Amino acid sequence: MLIALWAVLGLVFGSFGTVAAYRIPKRQSLATPARSYCPNCNATITVVENIPVLSYLVLRGKCRHCGVRISARYPLTELVTAVLFALSAWKFGLSGELFVFSALFWMLVVLSVIDLEHRLLLNRIVYPLFLVGWAALAVMAFASSEPEQLYHALLGMVIFGGFFFLIAFFFPAGMGGGDVKLAFVLGTFLGYAEGVGVVLMGMFLAFLLGGVVGILIMAMRGGDRKTMVPFGPFLALGTAIAIFWGQGLIDAYLDRF
Ligand SMILES: [Zn+2]
Repeated sequence: MLIALWAVLGLVFGSFGTVAAYRIPKRQSLATPARSYCPNCNATITVVENIPVLSYLVLRGKCRHCGVRISARYPLTELVTAVLFALSAWKFGLSGELFVFSALFWMLVVLSVIDLEHRLLLNRIVYPLFLVGWAALAVMAFASSEPEQLYHALLGMVIFGGFFFLIAFFFPAGMGGGDVKLAFVLGTFLGYAEGVGVVLMGMFLAFLLGGVVGILIMAMRGGDRKTMVPFGPFLALGTAIAIFWGQGLIDAYLDRF
Protein backbone atom coordinates (compact mmCIF):
# COMPACT_ATOMS: atom_id res chain seq x y z
CA MET A 1 0.00 0.00 0.00
CA LEU A 2 2.73 2.45 1.02
CA ILE A 3 4.84 1.33 -1.95
CA ALA A 4 1.99 1.98 -4.42
CA LEU A 5 1.23 5.35 -2.84
CA TRP A 6 4.89 6.33 -2.92
CA ALA A 7 5.21 5.23 -6.57
CA VAL A 8 2.37 7.59 -7.52
CA LEU A 9 4.04 10.35 -5.51
CA GLY A 10 7.21 9.54 -7.47
CA LEU A 11 5.35 10.05 -10.76
CA VAL A 12 4.17 13.46 -9.60
CA PHE A 13 7.64 14.49 -8.38
CA GLY A 14 9.13 13.04 -11.57
CA SER A 15 6.85 15.30 -13.56
CA PHE A 16 8.01 18.30 -11.52
CA GLY A 17 11.57 17.00 -11.97
CA THR A 18 11.32 17.27 -15.76
CA VAL A 19 10.26 20.90 -15.33
CA ALA A 20 13.12 21.55 -12.90
CA ALA A 21 15.69 19.88 -15.17
CA TYR A 22 14.46 21.97 -18.10
CA ARG A 23 14.28 25.32 -16.31
CA ILE A 24 17.14 25.34 -13.75
CA PRO A 25 20.00 25.36 -16.31
CA LYS A 26 18.22 28.22 -18.13
CA ARG A 27 17.87 30.08 -14.84
CA GLN A 28 14.09 30.23 -15.29
CA SER A 29 11.71 30.40 -12.35
CA LEU A 30 10.35 27.08 -11.12
CA ALA A 31 7.15 28.73 -9.93
CA THR A 32 6.13 30.87 -12.92
CA PRO A 33 4.66 30.00 -15.26
CA ALA A 34 3.10 27.40 -13.02
CA ARG A 35 1.91 25.32 -15.97
CA SER A 36 4.34 23.66 -18.34
CA TYR A 37 4.36 24.82 -21.93
CA CYS A 38 5.34 23.31 -25.27
CA PRO A 39 8.92 24.43 -26.05
CA ASN A 40 7.98 24.59 -29.76
CA CYS A 41 4.65 26.46 -29.93
CA ASN A 42 4.55 27.79 -26.34
CA ALA A 43 1.01 26.44 -25.87
CA THR A 44 0.25 25.93 -22.20
CA ILE A 45 -0.07 22.27 -21.29
CA THR A 46 -3.36 21.61 -19.54
CA VAL A 47 -3.74 19.52 -16.41
CA VAL A 48 -5.25 16.65 -18.41
CA GLU A 49 -2.34 16.71 -20.87
CA ASN A 50 0.14 16.66 -17.99
CA ILE A 51 -0.72 13.36 -16.27
CA PRO A 52 2.66 11.64 -15.85
CA VAL A 53 3.45 8.94 -18.45
CA LEU A 54 -0.27 8.38 -19.34
CA SER A 55 -0.69 11.65 -21.24
CA TYR A 56 2.47 10.93 -23.18
CA LEU A 57 1.11 7.55 -24.26
CA VAL A 58 -2.35 8.91 -25.12
CA LEU A 59 -0.89 11.79 -27.16
CA ARG A 60 1.62 9.38 -28.73
CA GLY A 61 4.50 11.63 -27.75
CA LYS A 62 3.29 14.67 -29.70
CA CYS A 63 2.19 18.18 -28.71
CA ARG A 64 -1.60 18.34 -29.16
CA HIS A 65 -1.37 21.88 -30.48
CA CYS A 66 1.47 21.86 -32.99
CA GLY A 67 2.23 18.13 -33.34
CA VAL A 68 5.95 18.48 -32.58
CA ARG A 69 7.52 15.33 -31.12
CA ILE A 70 7.98 15.42 -27.37
CA SER A 71 11.14 13.75 -26.11
CA ALA A 72 10.73 10.35 -24.46
CA ARG A 73 13.01 11.81 -21.79
CA TYR A 74 9.94 13.22 -20.00
CA PRO A 75 7.97 10.00 -19.38
CA LEU A 76 11.24 8.14 -18.74
CA THR A 77 12.23 10.66 -16.07
CA GLU A 78 8.82 10.24 -14.46
CA LEU A 79 9.06 6.45 -14.55
CA VAL A 80 12.58 6.36 -13.12
CA THR A 81 11.55 8.67 -10.27
CA ALA A 82 8.51 6.50 -9.55
CA VAL A 83 10.66 3.34 -9.43
CA LEU A 84 13.18 4.99 -7.08
CA PHE A 85 10.38 6.21 -4.81
CA ALA A 86 8.74 2.76 -4.76
CA LEU A 87 12.07 1.10 -3.93
CA SER A 88 12.65 3.66 -1.15
CA ALA A 89 9.27 2.82 0.37
CA TRP A 90 10.12 -0.90 0.14
CA LYS A 91 13.54 -0.36 1.73
CA PHE A 92 12.86 2.20 4.45
CA GLY A 93 9.15 1.82 5.27
CA LEU A 94 7.34 4.84 6.68
CA SER A 95 10.25 6.63 8.37
CA GLY A 96 12.39 9.74 8.33
CA GLU A 97 14.77 7.92 5.99
CA LEU A 98 11.98 7.48 3.46
CA PHE A 99 11.51 11.25 3.18
CA VAL A 100 15.22 12.09 3.15
CA PHE A 101 16.21 9.44 0.62
CA SER A 102 13.20 10.10 -1.64
CA ALA A 103 14.29 13.76 -1.72
CA LEU A 104 17.86 12.66 -2.46
CA PHE A 105 16.76 10.42 -5.36
CA TRP A 106 14.53 13.16 -6.76
CA MET A 107 17.48 15.58 -6.83
CA LEU A 108 19.77 12.91 -8.33
CA VAL A 109 17.27 12.38 -11.16
CA VAL A 110 17.18 16.13 -11.85
CA LEU A 111 20.99 16.32 -11.71
CA SER A 112 21.35 13.33 -14.04
CA VAL A 113 18.89 14.66 -16.63
CA ILE A 114 20.74 18.01 -16.67
CA ASP A 115 24.12 16.26 -16.84
CA LEU A 116 22.99 14.09 -19.78
CA GLU A 117 21.80 17.13 -21.70
CA HIS A 118 24.32 19.82 -20.72
CA ARG A 119 27.26 17.76 -19.32
CA LEU A 120 27.11 19.81 -16.17
CA LEU A 121 26.56 18.92 -12.53
CA LEU A 122 25.29 22.26 -11.30
CA ASN A 123 26.85 23.63 -8.10
CA ARG A 124 23.49 25.34 -7.58
CA ILE A 125 22.04 21.88 -6.87
CA VAL A 126 25.05 19.95 -5.50
CA TYR A 127 26.00 22.47 -2.76
CA PRO A 128 22.51 22.77 -1.24
CA LEU A 129 22.13 18.99 -1.49
CA PHE A 130 25.33 18.60 0.53
CA LEU A 131 24.42 21.13 3.22
CA VAL A 132 20.73 20.26 3.57
CA GLY A 133 21.63 16.58 3.36
CA TRP A 134 24.05 16.78 6.29
CA ALA A 135 21.52 18.81 8.32
CA ALA A 136 18.76 16.28 7.63
CA LEU A 137 20.98 13.30 8.46
CA ALA A 138 22.12 14.96 11.68
CA VAL A 139 18.54 15.57 12.77
CA MET A 140 17.59 11.97 11.97
CA ALA A 141 20.64 10.51 13.72
CA PHE A 142 19.97 12.38 16.95
CA ALA A 143 16.18 11.89 16.76
CA SER A 144 16.71 8.12 16.56
CA SER A 145 19.54 8.27 19.17
CA GLU A 146 21.98 6.81 16.67
CA PRO A 147 24.64 9.52 16.40
CA GLU A 148 27.22 6.93 15.31
CA GLN A 149 25.40 6.93 11.94
CA LEU A 150 27.00 10.33 11.36
CA TYR A 151 30.41 8.74 11.78
CA HIS A 152 29.51 6.26 9.02
CA ALA A 153 28.32 9.19 6.88
CA LEU A 154 31.61 11.04 7.44
CA LEU A 155 33.64 7.93 6.62
CA GLY A 156 31.54 7.31 3.50
CA MET A 157 32.05 10.90 2.39
CA VAL A 158 35.83 10.72 2.79
CA ILE A 159 36.16 7.32 1.07
CA PHE A 160 33.78 7.85 -1.87
CA GLY A 161 34.72 11.51 -2.43
CA GLY A 162 38.43 10.90 -1.82
CA PHE A 163 38.54 8.04 -4.32
CA PHE A 164 37.06 10.08 -7.15
CA PHE A 165 39.13 13.11 -6.12
CA LEU A 166 42.28 11.01 -6.64
CA ILE A 167 41.02 9.76 -10.01
CA ALA A 168 40.27 13.31 -11.15
CA PHE A 169 43.65 14.44 -9.84
CA PHE A 170 45.69 11.81 -11.67
CA PHE A 171 43.44 11.39 -14.74
CA PRO A 172 41.84 14.81 -15.24
CA ALA A 173 40.66 13.79 -18.72
CA GLY A 174 38.27 11.22 -17.30
CA MET A 175 36.40 13.14 -14.68
CA GLY A 176 35.26 16.67 -13.90
CA GLY A 177 35.18 18.66 -10.67
CA GLY A 178 31.39 18.31 -10.57
CA ASP A 179 31.70 14.53 -10.45
CA VAL A 180 34.09 14.75 -7.49
CA LYS A 181 31.79 17.09 -5.55
CA LEU A 182 28.83 14.81 -6.21
CA ALA A 183 30.88 11.81 -5.05
CA PHE A 184 31.42 13.50 -1.66
CA VAL A 185 27.63 13.96 -1.34
CA LEU A 186 26.82 10.39 -2.40
CA GLY A 187 29.36 8.88 -0.03
CA THR A 188 27.73 10.77 2.82
CA PHE A 189 24.26 9.36 2.18
CA LEU A 190 25.54 5.90 1.33
CA GLY A 191 27.65 5.72 4.50
CA TYR A 192 24.72 6.86 6.62
CA ALA A 193 22.28 4.37 5.11
CA GLU A 194 24.42 1.26 4.81
CA GLY A 195 27.94 1.71 6.21
CA VAL A 196 31.41 1.52 4.74
CA GLY A 197 31.16 -1.90 3.05
CA VAL A 198 28.28 -0.70 0.88
CA VAL A 199 30.10 2.60 0.19
CA LEU A 200 32.86 0.55 -1.42
CA MET A 201 30.26 -1.44 -3.36
CA GLY A 202 28.65 1.81 -4.61
CA MET A 203 32.04 3.13 -5.76
CA PHE A 204 32.77 -0.11 -7.54
CA LEU A 205 29.36 -0.14 -9.28
CA ALA A 206 29.61 3.51 -10.37
CA PHE A 207 33.09 2.94 -11.71
CA LEU A 208 32.12 -0.29 -13.45
CA LEU A 209 28.90 1.05 -15.04
CA GLY A 210 30.46 4.36 -16.09
CA GLY A 211 33.60 2.68 -17.35
CA VAL A 212 31.88 -0.04 -19.34
CA VAL A 213 29.38 2.33 -20.97
CA GLY A 214 32.11 4.93 -21.57
CA ILE A 215 34.35 2.40 -23.31
CA LEU A 216 31.43 1.10 -25.41
CA ILE A 217 30.50 4.60 -26.55
CA MET A 218 34.09 5.58 -27.28
CA ALA A 219 34.51 2.36 -29.28
CA MET A 220 31.37 3.09 -31.30
CA ARG A 221 32.03 6.75 -31.96
CA GLY A 222 35.80 6.74 -31.83
CA GLY A 223 35.56 9.35 -29.15
CA ASP A 224 37.70 11.78 -27.22
CA ARG A 225 36.96 13.93 -24.17
CA LYS A 226 34.11 15.73 -25.98
CA THR A 227 32.17 12.61 -26.88
CA MET A 228 32.67 11.08 -23.45
CA VAL A 229 29.59 10.18 -21.50
CA PRO A 230 28.78 12.32 -18.48
CA PHE A 231 29.75 10.44 -15.34
CA GLY A 232 27.19 11.96 -12.92
CA PRO A 233 24.32 9.63 -13.85
CA PHE A 234 26.55 6.59 -13.25
CA LEU A 235 27.62 7.87 -9.85
CA ALA A 236 23.93 8.26 -9.01
CA LEU A 237 22.98 4.86 -10.45
CA GLY A 238 25.79 3.05 -8.64
CA THR A 239 24.72 4.72 -5.39
CA ALA A 240 21.06 3.78 -5.87
CA ILE A 241 21.87 0.13 -6.60
CA ALA A 242 24.20 0.03 -3.58
CA ILE A 243 21.57 1.52 -1.26
CA PHE A 244 18.90 -1.00 -2.28
CA TRP A 245 20.93 -4.14 -2.99
CA GLY A 246 24.54 -3.43 -1.94
CA GLN A 247 24.42 -5.43 1.29
CA GLY A 248 22.66 -8.28 -0.50
CA LEU A 249 25.37 -8.32 -3.20
CA ILE A 250 28.10 -8.36 -0.55
CA ASP A 251 26.42 -11.19 1.36
CA ALA A 252 25.90 -13.22 -1.83
CA TYR A 253 29.55 -12.71 -2.76
CA LEU A 254 30.83 -13.70 0.69
CA ASP A 255 28.58 -16.78 0.76
CA ARG A 256 30.33 -18.19 -2.28
CA PHE A 257 33.77 -18.16 -0.66
ZN1 LIG B 1 3.41 22.56 -29.36
